Amino acid sequence: MSVEVGKRQEGGKPVKELHLNAYAKVNLTLDVGQERPDGYHEIESIMHTIALHDSITLREAGSGTEVVVQDGSSVPTDHRNLVARTAEMLREMFGVTRPLQIELTKRIPVAAGLGGGSSDAAVTLLGLAQMWKLRLDGREMLALATKLGADVPFFLEGGGAVARGKGERITYLPPLPTTWIVLARPRTEVSTAWAYRQLPAGEAGPRPNTAAMVEAMKREDVREVGRLLHNVFEDTIASHHPLVRDLKTRILKGEAYGASMSGTGPTVFGLMANEAAARKTADDLRALGDVDVHITRTFAESR
Ligand code: ATP
Repeated sequence: MSVEVGKRQEGGKPVKELHLNAYAKVNLTLDVGQERPDGYHEIESIMHTIALHDSITLREAGSGTEVVVQDGSSVPTDHRNLVARTAEMLREMFGVTRPLQIELTKRIPVAAGLGGGSSDAAVTLLGLAQMWKLRLDGREMLALATKLGADVPFFLEGGGAVARGKGERITYLPPLPTTWIVLARPRTEVSTAWAYRQLPAGEAGPRPNTAAMVEAMKREDVREVGRLLHNVFEDTIASHHPLVRDLKTRILKGEAYGASMSGTGPTVFGLMANEAAARKTADDLRALGDVDVHITRTFAESR
C-alpha cells in the first residue's frame, strides 16, 4: 500500500484524505486440494503483485459511507463492493461514525483472475486503520483480512508469497527481479465459484511443483520460474473458453520465459524476456481480437 496523506479544502475546512494504490496479482502456481467444511477449498498458490493497480482515495467527507467508482467500470457502489464492506466491518467493530467517501479508480479488469477486489479490500483495511487510528496488530489485521475474502491476506503486503489454507496462511518470498509481463484478458468474466464447480473431482492430472517454484524464486531464476508456471484451473477454463489456449500459444511463440492463466481466469499472462518482447507479443495478441491486452511488470512495494 502506498500512502500519501493530503489535505483538501471543503467549505473552507481542510479535509483529511489518503491516496492509496491497490496492485493486481498473478498466480505463478495454483493448486487446489480438498473442499473444507466451511465450503472453501484448500489451496497452495504462489502469487506475485504486478504494477497494474487501482487507485483509492479515502476522504473524510459526505455522510455515512459513500463509494464512487470512476472509469465507467461495472463494479457495484453499494454494500456488494468489498471496499464498502471493509468500511462497514470496521465501523461496526470500532463504533466509528465519521463520514467516509471512497473514490475507486478501477484499472484492474474485473472477475479476471487478477485479484482486484481483494487488493482493494486489503488496501482499504490498511488505510482506514491508519485514518481512524485503530489499534490493530498484525494478527488482528490478518484475521480481519481473512474475513473479507480468501485472497485478501496476501495483499496486506503483496510482493511474492506462497498462500496456503484457504489463502490466509502466507509465507513471503523474495520478490522477483522486475520482469516484463503481458496480460491478455478474453472479454468474458469468470466467476470464481463457477470455476471451482467445473474442476474435475479427484486428484488426477499434472500439478504445479510448488517447492521447485519456491527455490527458483529464491534464486531469482526468472527463466526457471517461467518454465514452472502451472495453474490447475487452466485446462478446465480453456475447455469452456478456447481463446485461453490460443492466447497462451501465441505468447509462447514470442520471447517468453513462460505463460499461464491467472487465478480462475480467464486472463492469461506471459513472463517476457524484455520490454521489446512484451510490446511485440502484445501487438500479436491484439490481432486475435476480443481480448484486452496490458503490458505491465512484476512489482513489490518496499514497506
Ligand atoms: P480472484 O483473482 O481473487 O478470483 P477476480 O480478479 O477474479 O478475483 P474481482 O475483480 O476481485 O475478481 O471481482 C469479482 C467480483 O467481485 C465481481 O463480480 C465484482 O462485482 C465484485 N466486486 C466487489 N468489490 C469489487 C471491487 N472493489 N473491485 C472489483 N470487483 C469487486
